[in-house]
Amino acid sequence: MQITAAVARERFGQFTIEPVELDDPRPDELLVRIVASGMCQTDQHGRDGYYDTPLPAVFGHEGAGIVEAVGKAVGNFAPGDHVVLSFPWCGSCANCRRHMQSHCLKNSELKMRGTRPDGSTLMSQNGSPIYSAFFQQSSFASHAIANERFAVKVRADAPLELLGPFACSGQTGAGAVLNSMRPEPGDALVVFGVGAVGLFGLLAGKIAGCEPIIAVDIHAERLALARELGATCAIDHTGRADVVAEIRKITGEGARFSLETSAQPAVFREAVESLMPGGRCILLGSARKGTEVSLEMPFLQFGRVVHGVIQGESHPQTFIPRLVDLLMRGKLPADRLIKFYPLADINRAADDSTSGRTIKPVLRMPS
Ligand SMILES: [Zn+2]
Ligand SMILES: [Zn+2]
Repeated sequence: MQITAAVARERFGQFTIEPVELDDPRPDELLVRIVASGMCQTDQHGRDGYYDTPLPAVFGHEGAGIVEAVGKAVGNFAPGDHVVLSFPWCGSCANCRRHMQSHCLKNSELKMRGTRPDGSTLMSQNGSPIYSAFFQQSSFASHAIANERFAVKVRADAPLELLGPFACSGQTGAGAVLNSMRPEPGDALVVFGVGAVGLFGLLAGKIAGCEPIIAVDIHAERLALARELGATCAIDHTGRADVVAEIRKITGEGARFSLETSAQPAVFREAVESLMPGGRCILLGSARKGTEVSLEMPFLQFGRVVHGVIQGESHPQTFIPRLVDLLMRGKLPADRLIKFYPLADINRAADDSTSGRTIKPVLRMPS
């Protein structure tokens, strides 16, 4: 069928809105009308060649929509179901067999290669391939094909256009806290970088009863929002070399947990140095290959742990509905992070995300 998609044709270039041909769903796939899709830095990094995704390509990996048709082997979904499209995993590697889907050994090829596992693309134009299975979904489009394994059914009374970000940034930040840290009430949490991922982590820390919750960032308006959403202290990192000392002043012995979302080596080091003995730094910031950091060995000797986490180490089929329930109970106000743009304004959304003007752009699709 013919659909509308935002196509990336050159690295660092503009997205263009174009008609493209979408494949028919295979027996285990769903055809989903995308209502809205969140936009992550990962989409722009994909366009700019960080992951070697071939172009032309359609990006987008935080899709939320309504099932329009199902392949004949699909048993768990029906037309009309509301779904969020989550990350893909192979299901058979050593980590998938241990239910560590987010650390699937085929993770990068399934997310970044722009094709189904068998090498076929989901979209084409005049017979030429459009690389279009980014995260096995490519949700910057009016419609997407998704394997049923990576689609998550969500309650129909939830506002679907707010739910796409739970597929990646929400799941990543909140999962890092609720799945990987598992704090106890009264544990100190420091969040370095309060963009979308950091703020979802902060909200999860509040749900878990963390106290204090310290937000560190360089944008005053983000810090103000972090305070409104539950940070008990906010530290403006701009021009400061004493952030660790300040955190120790607030926490006494250091923090039980820190969440690193900035991908800056110097900030990562602060996130480790802010910990008390036995504390845990969860690394979420996605740095380019080759980025190195130095840490003092004695620091790690005293039980401090650095733990790299992808996608909040979550099992999307249960974790995303849990996030939706938290949203509906007012505990996870995703709307405070989101700004909507029509798909046609995708380049403005990308610019606003890069500059920090918008925390989480969400693209509304043409119907
Ligand atoms: Zn796997
Ligand atoms: Zn993402």
